[in-house]
Amino acid sequence: MALIVQKYGGTSVGDPDRIRNVARRVKKTQAAGNQVVVVVSAMAGETNRLVGLAHEMHPEPSTREYDVLLSTGEQVTIACLALALQAMDQPSRSFLGHQVQIMTDNAYSKARIKSIDDTRIRCALDAGNVVVVAGFQGMDEEGNITTLGRGGSDTSAVALAAALKADACEIYTDVDGVYTADPRLCASASKLNKISYEEMLEMASAGAKVLQHRAVELAAKHDVPLWVKSSFSEEEGTLVTKEDSAMAQLLVSGVEHNENEAKIAVRHLADEPGVAARLFMPIAEANINVDMIVQNVSADGFTDLTFTVPQNELKQAIQIAEEVTKGMDGSAIETDENIAKVSVIGVGMRSHAGVASTAFKRLSEAGINIDMISTSEIKISMVIKQDQMEKAINELHEAFELGQLNT
Ligand code: ADP
Ligand code: ASP
Ligand code: MG
Repeated sequence: MALIVQKYGGTSVGDPDRIRNVARRVKKTQAAGNQVVVVVSAMAGETNRLVGLAHEMHPEPSTREYDVLLSTGEQVTIACLALALQAMDQPSRSFLGHQVQIMTDNAYSKARIKSIDDTRIRCALDAGNVVVVAGFQGMDEEGNITTLGRGGSDTSAVALAAALKADACEIYTDVDGVYTADPRLCASASKLNKISYEEMLEMASAGAKVLQHRAVELAAKHDVPLWVKSSFSEEEGTLVTKEDSAMAQLLVSGVEHNENEAKIAVRHLADEPGVAARLFMPIAEANINVDMIVQNVSADGFTDLTFTVPQNELKQAIQIAEEVTKGMDGSAIETDENIAKVSVIGVGMRSHAGVASTAFKRLSEAGINIDMISTSEIKISMVIKQDQMEKAINELHEAFELGQLNT
């Protein structure tokens, strides 16, 4: 008997009919002779509504109560799905994160899963139940509720699949797989049948919402076969798996985007040893994820440091930068939220030169100015103006002929 973990995202459980659709699919998987653990997200829009509610109650909500509030969305959907299954004569039990001991660190809003105790889940499965677990949430050592960051239900599913040594982890969403670019912004995007963990990790960290990057990280670490499929069709989907020789033959496999970052430029800092550490150490201690960093050195012994952070951490990053530069003559802090990052990803870049120059040339021909650049072995990221993002995605997609991919 195989054990399958299935995760259904917000759109897939967006209303009672859609929850019944999920229940039918789950019941079919169970009837085919599998044990099934289902992870669900909150109904579409619900987590955003709760974010708004938190800010309505307090301009700067405390992180503990913020997580208590945000985790409630998933409590509704687990109970609704278990009820829908029971209405179809399929025994089912729902569990919140803490009830199945999904233990995390104490970093509210972006907690990391440390361990999961599978006893209660196994017991419920062995009694013939479909087990429904709330995604996105866990509990720290002191018993506080934590959440795993936006999109975190993907990570709950993969962590459960790893803990239960599941035969497969299937992420059901509103697209039928991983595409060469977000199909909502790029009409010629093509579906990938397979993608390596490494490329998917870069795509997720470049902004591909379709999988949370920690979910991919965990899947790679524990060798979990990870599928992305549609909850509205029977299409085969995309398998995220180990790299094979066919994958490396593709020069580029995707163009991704992120419009949720902001840029901070700290100008006129004395160019001396330790200047970057003075700025970035307190930022790291505040658990703020810095993405790109560019340092410009001027001839007169001063330097500018420009970096990007998630928009929702901008305020805190500015406060830290102000603290660090207090009393420094002539220093200034500038910010820009109207930016977007576009990234070109592909394991083929390791062995082929010229990908960066092709990308830069294409954007320049399209009249798109590049503000910041960073590269890794298999990714080139460029910060541009937000209103040029969609154009840039489509230009790059065409430059690398991704519309004709046949994987
Ligand atoms: P869910 O609510 O099911 O978790 P998400 O909205 O988090 O779904 O993720 C699915 C969305 O990811 C798609 O609707 C699509 O717009 C977006 N997306 C971004 N990049 C890609 C890509 N390369 N392939 C497929 N979808 C992508
Ligand atoms: N409900 C959470 C969110 O909207 C978690 C998830 O959907 O994965 O981010
Ligand atoms: Mg998601």
